[in-house]
Amino acid sequence: PPALFLSRVERRYIQGTATLDILRGADFAVWPGEIVALVAPSGTGKSTLLHVAGLLERPDAGEVYIGARPTVELDDSERTRLRRVDIGFVYQFHHLLPEFSALENVVLPQLIRGLDRKVAGQRATDLLTFLGIGQRLKHRPAELSGGEQQRVAIARAVANGPRVLLADEPTGNLDPGTADHVFHTLIALVRASRVGAVIATHNLDLARRMDRRVTIRDGIVMQMD
Ligand code: ADP
Ligand code: ADP
Repeated sequence: PPALFLSRVERRYIQGTATLDILRGADFAVWPGEIVALVAPSGTGKSTLLHVAGLLERPDAGEVYIGARPTVELDDSERTRLRRVDIGFVYQFHHLLPEFSALENVVLPQLIRGLDRKVAGQRATDLLTFLGIGQRLKHRPAELSGGEQQRVAIARAVANGPRVLLADEPTGNLDPGTADHVFHTLIALVRASRVGAVIATHNLDLARRMDRRVTIRDGIVMQMD
């Protein structure tokens, strides 16, 4: 099955007396190992799509499959459990825990999931090494460069081996050279881990280097080329 499949998803918000139909029957599938750019003007529903796909918001209609599993009818605690295991988030700002080392930031989500400390530590070390920051394990976020911080955030997002990686402008806060470098390691990680990735970005250069590009138009996910 796809890593992620949105089927006829609707999402609307009430603002005062107005109803905003943001998603109006959106269909969207992402395959394992695939990296899809989500490119759309502000206010068209990128965050809404990522939040619905990430089980942070429930759609008003339609279904969200993570792997083969439908999620809309699951209760909140089951959705939270699924989110912790099967979905990784990366944001424009790293949101790392400042008092913890790079290694600990990547170990923690695994402990929360219930993994053994030693297994979690080894996996975190392997991931950070793969991402090119194996010599920075003991550093706290403030002691790392912006690119290094974002790599730790990426490692944390995939620490539990999710099926789906959702990223909102993950390199938007970095200078172009660093953004490029971080993006390269992100692609390598997606290919190696077979995670299905959706990356919202305004950077068309980066978007062109992904497997395909989609946009949101009139509440529908459209292929861009
Ligand atoms: P994007 O990420 O593409 O900028 P969003 O998904 O954040 O767009 O928002 C799409 C539209 O929905 C915007 O007009 C926004 O104001 C509105 N919106 C988003 N979340 C809410 C909410 N919780 N309540 C009301 N309106 C919302
Ligand atoms: P934006 O839409 O501006 O990028 P954020 O990415 O900071 O905003 O977060 C969007 C929403 O998702 C927030 O309401 C936040 O509480 C929630 N959120 C972010 N990450 C997680 C997570 N890992 N688990 C649960 N909720 C999250």
